[in-house]
Amino acid sequence: MSFGTKVFSKINRVAAEQIGQSFLSGLIARGIKGNYILMYHGITADGNTLFNKRHISYQCLEKQIQFIKKHFSVISLQDFFEEKFDNTRPNFAITFDDGYVNNFIYAKPILEKYKCPASFFITALNEAGDNILWGDMLNIASVFTDENLSIDGEKFEKKNSIYYSVETGKSIYDLVRFERTGYDYKVKIKEALRQHLNFENNPALREYWQLMSDKHIIETSKSEYIKIGCHGYYHNNLGSIPHEQAVMELANGKKYLEGLIQKKVDQLAFPDGSYTLELSEAAYNMGFSLQLAADKFLFDKDDHELHIKKRHGIYAVDSCLNQLFTALKE
Ligand SMILES: [Zn+2]
Repeated sequence: MSFGTKVFSKINRVAAEQIGQSFLSGLIARGIKGNYILMYHGITADGNTLFNKRHISYQCLEKQIQFIKKHFSVISLQDFFEEKFDNTRPNFAITFDDGYVNNFIYAKPILEKYKCPASFFITALNEAGDNILWGDMLNIASVFTDENLSIDGEKFEKKNSIYYSVETGKSIYDLVRFERTGYDYKVKIKEALRQHLNFENNPALREYWQLMSDKHIIETSKSEYIKIGCHGYYHNNLGSIPHEQAVMELANGKKYLEGLIQKKVDQLAFPDGSYTLELSEAAYNMGFSLQLAADKFLFDKDDHELHIKKRHGIYAVDSCLNQLFTALKE
């Protein structure tokens, strides 16, 4: 290292330190203390937000993890539920949803480098013979095609990047979340989009949607820092499908992961944060003793059992440390 580089890197370090310190003072001044479960999704090389704001860059993730590790206590989700907190400072548990291969490529090495416990929540789409979450397919399609779609005989037109039914004016997104909530309809959406798109063969786009293979999941489960949890079977909105079907999907998702990693799976993150209190109870009885909603509880907080907690989602809406601050202040 030359003298010039040394001086420069020292200045950088000092500047970074000052930013970190002022951020921390900001947190304390705003009264942010307590304990938080963070919710990440994809981690990509460039933090591109063209398709959605759920993916952040690995540089941002590293900055956030460095910061959290330095100033707060990071504990496993298990310890968080058991309230094994460091009472002198805020405690954090870290989670990643959807099981992207980018979690394996970028997040896993960072978590291991900083000895940071985390949980990865994964669907059973591999077992279903599927390879992409319908939401990602729709997000990417909404950028690359302007063609009208025909799904199950119903016409959809794109307006402001969102597909709406010509007949009812409802968006595909809302239809899937609240009305046609089963997996069959998601398959039909994907079939309709594949008639216009071939992005799945484009290697440059893979990191925005590709899911971990069974091999990746097994490899990840061997990490001493990462626990594998269930994220439903098909990523259906489990609070919107019939109860018995939702119970079945959870049981099958659990069975798939346990068969794969040969370990008990007792952690569950409800896809899209969608659940019912009855389903949460049934999930608890089948062995999911650690359950997670998304950014908010769907029912009165007092009606929830202690086995379900909400999270603070990190989104690419701001600079790296501000993403963290934004997530915490909500
Ligand atoms: Zn999800």
